[in-house]
Amino acid sequence: MAEKRSSHAYMLLGPEGPERDRAARELAASLVCGAAKPPCGVCRDCRKALEGIHPDVILVERERRDKELRREILIGQIRAMTADAQLAPNEAARKVYIIAQADRMNQQAQNALLKALEDPPGHACFILCAMSADALLPTVRSRCVRVSARGAAQERPEGMAELAAAYLETAAGGDAAEVALFCMSRAGMSREDTESFAGTVRDAVCDILCGRARDPGLGRDRLFRLAELMEKAEDYLRHNVAPKQIFGVLAVETLR
Ligand SMILES: [Zn+2]
Repeated sequence: MAEKRSSHAYMLLGPEGPERDRAARELAASLVCGAAKPPCGVCRDCRKALEGIHPDVILVERERRDKELRREILIGQIRAMTADAQLAPNEAARKVYIIAQADRMNQQAQNALLKALEDPPGHACFILCAMSADALLPTVRSRCVRVSARGAAQERPEGMAELAAAYLETAAGGDAAEVALFCMSRAGMSREDTESFAGTVRDAVCDILCGRARDPGLGRDRLFRLAELMEKAEDYLRHNVAPKQIFGVLAVETLR
């Protein structure tokens, strides 16, 4: 649990293409939407973000030189983005930077991004789209919450999506005893299943934030916090903490 993670940086993982692009716009809409239950999908901020014309949703992608796309996203682009991020948003409460192919950033560009992620202005959010987290420097990765462009149901053990949904329902209920009971009754889960559970919850959060699934009543800020909590659980697993202890942590921190 060495490094501090910024709650405003997300790594959107999935194959390049329209599905991932749409998920990025949906996530951006969720971040700029001013409605009580974002994303509402109908306010001006949502509509502009979904259409790709919101002035506070900024796309960073490979530049063209002559007619060819450059191979990489260059450090100059990331520096320009970081400078822009210092300026207040135009219309929304946040400014969202979508790095369309974050895995195309060269090392210098990633190091420049790292500086921005270490000390971001409060209104700035970053969505890094990539095929796999492995393409990014560990220092960049560790500051991002991973979300899946493909949804919670994919390639998970049977019943895991339902379990994740039940966890989110319980969290939304806000009853500490219920949450503790839910978590403690999962203390016997295997490491593999625990890892899968945490990943499925993150993906389920993304589905809700992107408007693909119903919010059981958590709201954007708590959803983001739960996604972070799952990252933390997965970090613990990587450091060989036992599932039993991890569910103990979840029992305490879910409602925090
Ligand atoms: Zn909205």
